[in-house]
Amino acid sequence: MPKLMHKKSITIALAGNPNSGKTTIFNNITGTRQKVGNWPGVTVEKKEGSVSKFGHDLKIIDLPGTYSLTPFSIEEIVARDFVLEESPDVVIDIIDASNLERSLYLATQLRELDCKVLFALNMADLATSRGTKIDADKLSELLDVPVVFTIGNKNTGIDSLLKVAIKLAGSKSKISQKRKVKYSNDIENSISKLQGFIEERIEQNLPYNIRWTAIKLLENDKIVRERIRQKIGNKSLEIFREVETHRKHLLDRFDDDPEIVMTDERYGFIAGIIKEVVTKSTKRRIDTSRNVDLVLTNRFVGFPIFILFIWIMFQTTFVVGSYPMEWIDSGVNWLSAILELFLPDSLFKDLLLNGIIAGVGSVIIFLPNILILFLFIAIFEDTGYMARAAFLMDKIMHLIGLHGKSFIPMLMGFGCSVPAIMATRTLESNKDRILTILITPFMSCSAKLPIYILLAGTFFSARAGTVIFLIYITGIILSIITGRLFRSTLFKGADAPFVMELPPYRVPMIKSLIIHMWDRSKMFLKKMGGIILVGSVIVWMLTAFPRNINYSMDYNKEINKINTSFMDKYSNADDYEKKQIEKQKNAAITKLKLAEKAEKAEKSFMGSIGKTIAPVFAPIGIDWRGSVALLTGFVAKEIVVSTLGILYTAEEADEPDALKNTLLASEMTSLSALSLMIFVLLYLPCVATIATIRRETGSLKWTLFSIVYNTSIAWAAAFCIYQGGKILGLT
Ligand code: GDP
Ligand code: MG
Repeated sequence: MPKLMHKKSITIALAGNPNSGKTTIFNNITGTRQKVGNWPGVTVEKKEGSVSKFGHDLKIIDLPGTYSLTPFSIEEIVARDFVLEESPDVVIDIIDASNLERSLYLATQLRELDCKVLFALNMADLATSRGTKIDADKLSELLDVPVVFTIGNKNTGIDSLLKVAIKLAGSKSKISQKRKVKYSNDIENSISKLQGFIEERIEQNLPYNIRWTAIKLLENDKIVRERIRQKIGNKSLEIFREVETHRKHLLDRFDDDPEIVMTDERYGFIAGIIKEVVTKSTKRRIDTSRNVDLVLTNRFVGFPIFILFIWIMFQTTFVVGSYPMEWIDSGVNWLSAILELFLPDSLFKDLLLNGIIAGVGSVIIFLPNILILFLFIAIFEDTGYMARAAFLMDKIMHLIGLHGKSFIPMLMGFGCSVPAIMATRTLESNKDRILTILITPFMSCSAKLPIYILLAGTFFSARAGTVIFLIYITGIILSIITGRLFRSTLFKGADAPFVMELPPYRVPMIKSLIIHMWDRSKMFLKKMGGIILVGSVIVWMLTAFPRNINYSMDYNKEINKINTSFMDKYSNADDYEKKQIEKQKNAAITKLKLAEKAEKAEKSFMGSIGKTIAPVFAPIGIDWRGSVALLTGFVAKEIVVSTLGILYTAEEADEPDALKNTLLASEMTSLSALSLMIFVLLYLPCVATIATIRRETGSLKWTLFSIVYNTSIAWAAAFCIYQGGKILGLT
């Protein structure tokens, strides 16, 4: 076993229900020495940390929070596989002592596995304040497991927990076989017969402990079956046939699937334990959580409060966030001004300023918004409010065929799809998660707003607000249609059984909030910084090359001409006139420079690409400039506006309505502007989002699907609007 290579190193896995305090205890033990990543192949977050304590190197792993080890959800599969395949030295089951009954299901399942388990009765303070007294010695005796009381958020009991864990890891004794769940006679009979059958036929070649294997086979556990098939090949068929006879027998006997019967019996076993170890004091404290819930999950009062919270979240994110955003923005501007001044003109300077700094700078300014948004989400999660919000939205979300929990990512989608898609991690079922990821990009993200403001403001002046609102609504309606469509085709089948949990309200810990917020923001910066950097450099290259363009005129010569012609006018002018002349001169020069810029863009690779793809966009009323802008929007939607700016502007750029006036004078009509906006709303997400979709679905297939689906819908919708509008005689 590799774990013995380093003599004193001990691997400790933390298991437990969601909200039982696992991460709190994990943070207490490891402090800042932790590493966040993903479990291989899936999108569940994996936290690992190492510390040296009590003379041992401890490697701590925070397993995903689960209520059971029945492989319904990715979290459950990940947690179980880790315990089975990596054989940690000790598994600490963090039990919410204030909710013992619910926690014991996982505990008994862990107990059935072949691993050294110890229980941390966490939230001991809450249990006491609710008048629940737990006889730890009795519990320890009944399940033959060491038990330690802890209070995670006060760092109480953690040291003794670790000491017991270290002792357990070092103990030579075999993993205790007694005190496992005992099932009813019929089931125990089948288990032992099956066990005997397996032992007789298949030497010692099975991956897992035999009793456990027998139990899982009787429960028809797909993963265990598959693993056995891999391990012993054809021999497994023999076993599976035997299992089928036992399952049939039990089905006849109980008139219910064996897995259901066994689950019931486990609960019965747990109920028995509870009777033995828990005493409730008569004067039970009034349950504040429940009272607060009467208000917050009430349909009439709860909704306005919910909307208020969301409003505060967005207000703070965008209003408070705009100050540091400005600081960063001016920092970036300052940097490029300095570089502009001190670097000699060169291709490298162009790349640095117009490629790297312009591109990465445009993303980094969103960091404050993201930090604030994630802080709010961490607060909502840690206080327990998130669960209430999901509860409230549940009925509405069922319209789309999703649970209330999917609402949070969709809502975040109005800010930015990247964190929104990352937030789908809270969904238990993989199907729900992918469906939510697929419809989230229809929630118009904040980066698209400048585009709407520009186009709607130009072509629909007085009705701009209504037009923008309708565009948002279009996105929402299409997400509902998409959700229903996919739910009844691609994502058919039973959902994982799922109870909407309402964990008790808690005061969040600052440390945990900050770790939460920082973890996610770090991920954003790292990944997105990389992608945006590459994307910006590519866009820059496409617009900066080829270098030797055949201009339609010699711009430098023209500029010199202007300079000399104005020189003459200067000679006999007074001060006031001089100022006027200066202004005129500058305007003329700027105009030329912009024309040069526009011609350069037209003749760059980007321009050629635009003209090549223009036929695709012609039926939806978008010319080659619009096509190029849409193409660059692939890097980040904000870039659409600046590309339009480069390609269209012919007036002085400082003039407030320059772009507006050129757009009005161009061939673009209100109809094609509307078509362009609809296309922007719906077409493929930006690079950062696509990378996130790839990472979070773990599937190239779904990523490509999302790209193709969104773009097709966008084209179809824009086509209907543009051609329909033309038929109706609109312009
Ligand atoms: P996880 O989902 O299991 O990782 O749970 P967390 O570690 O995120 O904890 C959930 C919440 O419970 C946090 O707000 C913690 O501050 C709080 N918490 C953790 N341990 C205790 C405890 O022993 N007593 C009380 N009252 N709260 C705790
Ligand atoms: Mg956690």
